[in-house]
Amino acid sequence: MLTFKNRTALVTGAGRGIGKAIAETLARQGVTVICVSKSADSCGGTAAGILAAGGKAKALAVDVADGAAIAKAVEVLGQEFPMIDILVNNAGITRDGLLFRMSELDWDDVIATNLTSCFHWTKLLGRPMTRARWGRIVNITSVSGVMGNAGQANYSAAKAGMIGFTKSLAREFAGRSVTVNAVAPGFIKTDMTTEFVNSAEVSARILESVPLKRFGEAADIAHLTAYLCSEESSYITGQVFNVDGGMAM
Ligand code: NAP
Repeated sequence: MLTFKNRTALVTGAGRGIGKAIAETLARQGVTVICVSKSADSCGGTAAGILAAGGKAKALAVDVADGAAIAKAVEVLGQEFPMIDILVNNAGITRDGLLFRMSELDWDDVIATNLTSCFHWTKLLGRPMTRARWGRIVNITSVSGVMGNAGQANYSAAKAGMIGFTKSLAREFAGRSVTVNAVAPGFIKTDMTTEFVNSAEVSARILESVPLKRFGEAADIAHLTAYLCSEESSYITGQVFNVDGGMAM
């Protein structure tokens, strides 16, 4: 068991995949989890599962690409949760395409959802953390942000941006015992990668670049993220952890 002192976490993209696994893992450790996703059904399902298992959770549908919606959500949550100690910026989308075929809309949507969302959530929730002199922020980036990936200029730029954001804020918040780290998944089996995983030809090609020769599970990301949110990780900040079967060495 990790140590959590009556903490409350907000996890974005908690309706499915990696975010759902992170929300459930934190809840099993006794953390109260605010599950955010775009659709109410999605985050509602995760929160209902946590409650049914005896944990503490709340669901909130928020479009993280909309800064005003995030501000409103934080205001509403403040009435029920005076302190949110842990923030996991996990919500993300891909809109892949080679640069010459990529529309400005696909660029903007990916930057807004993956990167600008981190700016809004962290600005609003980071201030009370710094005042309380305790906080944990984990940004879920990607191996694409670490190594680049043809066909993902928008996504790689957003994910690399999250890494710079993580390192800068780690320095800004360090004096207040608020740690900021990033986790960079490789190919993890979720809805985002179903298309690749289910194609024998594509998955064989991808696995050539994965030394461990298999796709990861959402739980692989959730376990490390929970550790980075716990008391035990208090001397770790500004780091990027690759959880990718050895892809980015
Ligand atoms: P996923 O299965 O597609 O789930 C994405 C989650 O993000 C969903 O809950 C979705 O909400 C939420 N979301 C998307 N756009 C949103 C928006 N505008 N507002 C609020 N919520 C939004 O994705 P995943 O594979 O778990 O990925 C999670 C994170 O890990 C992402 O940041 C992704 O880039 C990163 N990552 C994934 C992989 C991988 O191999 N899977 C690899 C590297 C990095 P709804 O449920 O309501 O649609």
